Amino acid sequence: MRTLLTGGAGFIGSALVRELLARGDEVLVVDKLTYAGVEASLDEVALHPGFRFLKADICDASAMAGAFHDFQPDRVAHLAAETHVDRSIDGPAVFIQTNVVGTQVLLDQALAYWRGLTGAARDGFRFLHVSTDEVFGSLGAEGRFDETTPYDPRSPYSASKAASDHLVRAWGQTFGLPVLISNCSNNYGPRQFPEKLIPTLILRALSGESLPIYGDGLNVRDWLFVEDHARALALMLQVAEPGRTYCVGGNAERTNLQIAERVCEALDHLQPRSDGFSYQTQIVFVEDRPGHDRRYAIDAGRIAQDHAWRPRIDFDTGLRHTVIWYLEHSDWWRPLTKDGMVRMGTRDSLSFRE
Ligand code: NAD
Repeated sequence: MRTLLTGGAGFIGSALVRELLARGDEVLVVDKLTYAGVEASLDEVALHPGFRFLKADICDASAMAGAFHDFQPDRVAHLAAETHVDRSIDGPAVFIQTNVVGTQVLLDQALAYWRGLTGAARDGFRFLHVSTDEVFGSLGAEGRFDETTPYDPRSPYSASKAASDHLVRAWGQTFGLPVLISNCSNNYGPRQFPEKLIPTLILRALSGESLPIYGDGLNVRDWLFVEDHARALALMLQVAEPGRTYCVGGNAERTNLQIAERVCEALDHLQPRSDGFSYQTQIVFVEDRPGHDRRYAIDAGRIAQDHAWRPRIDFDTGLRHTVIWYLEHSDWWRPLTKDGMVRMGTRDSLSFRE
């Protein structure tokens, strides 16, 4: 199968590229290489005979038309997006441009291409839109999101992703494009951009900086190892019926404070501080993010039932693996940290940084 995959130089995209190539697919990565696109994340597959790369913006209709025409994909996996909530608070415009307008451009081009297909190629075509559980808003202490949960996005990021989900549904309903949507919980693992929570904690701990935790640290996320997510997406591309949406999660709810403590414990064991103190002494609480959702949790029952998908990597194993990966791959993250690591918090709450 030939997969046109947007955002393949990103964290989850690069994991999906590896997963699809391992399954024997050919993959064309379409990526603008924004600050979050890391070519080194694709080094491992760069010489694979099934791998191709196109540097292009998904908002560029003629570039997207050319990509469909030249590559003749059997399906699309759409992951390109602006993804960092804090940045969406500072500057929403690029989120609307890429996540909303870019998705519409890609849908239009996919539709034009799909309409030109016939027979099995037309029937088998899929447009998989990779979205987030953040579109559902915030949970109280009880309950979990599932495919019937109403949308209630609360940040510019989640609002832009919700808008893109609606566009994808509309192109499915109105034009018959065979679309799929996944709404996944927080991912973690190797090659995540240093501004996100877990890499930020690891890298700031190692450099002796404070470990900033928003508010009371009790915001809960449901964590999924990135390779388990990639496996779910590959499975959806392979077997899901058009129009299906799936909630994907790790069944691993943790507070942000627990995440920080687990990262510190792993580092205390793997690379103890020279003064003998725990990295936990570096944890500080900082002013909360505006509109900070309290709790996300996913009921992944539908994908388990339809396709026997379940996470394979438990949180403690995955986190340890992730910490070891960052310890062993400073060549990957060091070039990204000059700009990337400074982005934690809104403009007003940046004062916590030393
Ligand atoms: P990421 O920020 O690591 O990577 C995004 C990629 O998209 C980068 O390679 C970037 O260069 C590319 N990109 C951005 N704008 C582009 C444009 N206009 N044209 C072409 N390429 C562009 O993101 P990620 O964490 O890998 O997330 C991938 C997708 O999964 C996103 O759609 C995100 O909303 C969704 N998602 C992420 C998580 C998570 O925890 N990270 C959870 C659920 C869903």
